[in-house]
Amino acid sequence: MRWGIVGAGTGGLASALLLARQGHEVTLFERVAEPTAVGAGLLLQPTGLAVLRRLGLLQRVLAHGSRVDRLWGLTAGGRMVLDLAYADLRPDLFGLGINRGALFSALWDAVCAEPTINRRVGVDVRTLREDDDSATIEGEAFDRVVIASGARTPMRPPKARATPYPWGALWFVAKADPMPGVLYQRYRDTRKMIGLLPSGDGTVSVFWSLRADALEAWKAAGLSTWKDEMATLMPEVPLGDLREPEQVIFAPYFDVVAPAWHTKRMVWLGDAAHAMSPQLGQGANLALQDAAALADCADLADYSQRRRAQVGFYSMASRALTPFFQSSLPILAPPRDLVAGPLNAWGWYRRQMLASLAGIKTGLFSEMPLPG
Ligand SMILES: Cc1cc2nc3c(=O)[nH]c(=O)nc-3n(C[C@H](O)[C@H](O)[C@H](O)COP(=O)(O)OP(=O)(O)OC[C@H]3O[C@@H](n4cnc5c(N)ncnc54)[C@H](O)[C@@H]3O)c2cc1C
Repeated sequence: MRWGIVGAGTGGLASALLLARQGHEVTLFERVAEPTAVGAGLLLQPTGLAVLRRLGLLQRVLAHGSRVDRLWGLTAGGRMVLDLAYADLRPDLFGLGINRGALFSALWDAVCAEPTINRRVGVDVRTLREDDDSATIEGEAFDRVVIASGARTPMRPPKARATPYPWGALWFVAKADPMPGVLYQRYRDTRKMIGLLPSGDGTVSVFWSLRADALEAWKAAGLSTWKDEMATLMPEVPLGDLREPEQVIFAPYFDVVAPAWHTKRMVWLGDAAHAMSPQLGQGANLALQDAAALADCADLADYSQRRRAQVGFYSMASRALTPFFQSSLPILAPPRDLVAGPLNAWGWYRRQMLASLAGIKTGLFSEMPLPG
């Protein structure tokens, strides 16, 4: 079968590899002429790592990432809000912090080594059509088309609702890792949050919560004001390498919800299908699992059906949880901080949180098996 794929991000690259290895003829369209990943680190969960293992890329990402064993979040005053260790779910489990560039290179190099994948870089896809016989990308006909063009794409599934979230995050990468093995966060009510994600090759990704409409004020205040604010909330933050505002990237969040992710010949995956706030650290993992499910499904309706429960859970959970960590509702912080300790000590609840973190939840009371 001839497949056309729009977007060479995590989901598009993984799909291209899986489909090509099943013997399909794949053409991958990417608007960037010399593709590379920008941005800081992200956290791969056991679910995403399982797909990378299937792709034969696990050893490579492990070599360039940092193992994350624990998620630890404290208030500014030092009160525990989150303390989750993967090993409490299963002793051999862990997450992997990795710079986007390292994940992208692993996938891209594998795509370049696959002779049956045609790469069309520097093509900004604007026109998609479908009829009974084929689907077309910029006039070129395919049997099936995958749309994996990310959170900001205007090419959405039918009846999708896409809402920009008022908050996003500033990110930079520091050449230090003051808390090896720990994704460490500090919160000042719901309006300030700083985090350190170990992200491989001796680096840590530092993220800082910011309202999208406060970006200009942040720029005007200058770097040293921000550095003081970060160091006050988290004294361990490594700021030695941070000299220019150009080292810092602002990433906005989007919330995309759709009743299904396919039409007769087109299918959506990753952020184009179901972007969500990254509070639960699942977006890239869901994109990888979308790609695996698509390769395993007999038809596109099957794919939508198979992805519904897990994606639905994380979409709902990230919408419910994000206001407690990133919002203009500081009134939510005292109840959050009050219940965190007792809830964390309650075995059933703790297990639900760990399963949510590991990426295996498919509903409030259901989950898929942990990857082997
Ligand atoms: C601040 C922040 C932190 C995050 N942290 C985590 C985390 O810890 N763990 C996690 O799993 N996820 C995290 N995510 C989410 C994760 O980054 C995304 O879910 C994931 O990258 C989505 O992959 P994708 O393949 O769908 O899209 P992308 O990786 O965005 O790729 C889309 C590709 O499509 C291309 N494209 C777009 N339009 C066109 C066009 N018209 N024509 C051709 N090509 C086009 C783009 O250039 C790009 O290459 C985070 C996100 C943010 C914003």
